Amino acid sequence: MDRQHILEDIEKFDEEMGREHLAHARGMKDEVNFSAIYSRHEHLFTLENIRLVRALLKDAKLPDTQRRNLLLFDYLVGSRIGNELKALSDKASNYEAKATIKVGGKKIPYRQASIVVMNEPNRKQRQKIVDALKVPKRVLTKFSEEALEKEYKLLKELSGKDYVEYVEWIKQFDLRKFGKVLEGFLAQSNKMYRAKLATVMTSMKVPLNDIQKHDLGFYLRAHKFDAYFPKKRLIPTLHATLSGMGFSLPKQKNITLDADERPTKVPRAFCMPLLIPHEIYLVLKPHGGQEDYQTILHEAGHSEHFANTKDDLPYELKHMGSHSVSETYSFLFEYLTMDPLWLKKFIRMSAKKEQEFLDFQKFTKLFFVRRYAGKVLYELKFHGNDVRRLDDDFQPLRETYASKAAMYADILTKTTGAIYKEDDYLLDMDNAFYSADYVRAWMFEVQVRNYLKEHYGAWFANKKSGAFLKKMWSTGSAGRNQEELAKLINAPSVDPQYLFHEVL
Ligand SMILES: [Zn+2]
Repeated sequence: MDRQHILEDIEKFDEEMGREHLAHARGMKDEVNFSAIYSRHEHLFTLENIRLVRALLKDAKLPDTQRRNLLLFDYLVGSRIGNELKALSDKASNYEAKATIKVGGKKIPYRQASIVVMNEPNRKQRQKIVDALKVPKRVLTKFSEEALEKEYKLLKELSGKDYVEYVEWIKQFDLRKFGKVLEGFLAQSNKMYRAKLATVMTSMKVPLNDIQKHDLGFYLRAHKFDAYFPKKRLIPTLHATLSGMGFSLPKQKNITLDADERPTKVPRAFCMPLLIPHEIYLVLKPHGGQEDYQTILHEAGHSEHFANTKDDLPYELKHMGSHSVSETYSFLFEYLTMDPLWLKKFIRMSAKKEQEFLDFQKFTKLFFVRRYAGKVLYELKFHGNDVRRLDDDFQPLRETYASKAAMYADILTKTTGAIYKEDDYLLDMDNAFYSADYVRAWMFEVQVRNYLKEHYGAWFANKKSGAFLKKMWSTGSAGRNQEELAKLINAPSVDPQYLFHEVL
């Protein structure tokens, strides 16, 4: 096959995989069969095709061609690994979809358990559910251990590189240097974060030497703000927010908004860019609450980004780019709920309540940035086989952790202040340092938002900011990287200090 044919076939493969996933997640199809789709396209992930793109990579002189070939190479490598692991992944997803736990005589589906825990006010009951999850988690971890071992081996064979080195090469980003920046931030914010956490947990009567992950989860669910974010106002608020920037969802025929109730529809909102920019799905199951509003705005940010990507951009740059760019735009919309002007316009709160809500969100954001910074440090050490124990300033000691699972529990407990258990050491890990993409997006988002505020004031209610964003969005996920996009907002580069300043 030549490059052109490979790309044409990838488009077909992506579309089939996307439709299968979409039908399942929208609650229109119970069983998924990704294995069958992989098998139909096996001619695509051959060693011959991988070698061909690798050779093109060596020849390419232009930075743009180089970028496209790198994305294509990563796509083929990832799909070949996916193809090798397809039986195992289907087995794991089917187990996960069917697994249930029993608590107090009541059956809870595994996939619903995290939501049930978050909504359970009784601390002992929360602990019971978490304990019951140990068994299915152990089974799923076994699948993940087997998959990861195979993935390391295949990655080395196909690229000649170890995991961290490979991801740094594909993303053209120095993850290890980034880790150092995050270490500094974690050490710097430690004391202040602990003090805030102590206040919050004391108000919940949780003993400070026994803060469980589920205690923090329950706090972050924030039932006390539910009344201000009713289910019935969710979609009207989304429409009104977007129209302030000049976007009319009903007129954007390339975005399908699916808010219908179906019993097996996934509970969390998501955006699926099936064919950029022609066929984008914004899928949600409204249930109200502040988090629901934030999630919908987040997914709407993704949707508008993909829907306004230039059609004539090469397929690789539209569909294969870095998540750090796309997540910047979704965070930009999500954090509208932290903007007092937006709150005044769309959510009616007293001044006192508003301050309470803003303080709550500031703490939440600090928690998330610390948690993800911790994940990046952990994943760097995990994939790099560095099991040296970290001290309270996240510097390595001479002694080592008993296991990688113990390392996970220690680092996440240190960064979040809640007790993390070893059970999740593989289940709480995303592919290819998505954790770092999130942190990078948090950083750049503050800079984009500051620019919009400076130029357009209440930017979410100004059509000029919509026009400006369209210009940023036009180059998709990979047409321009964060550093190149920074030029559009007159910033010399992405600077983490803006985020650190905001959350500290
Ligand atoms: Zn997102």
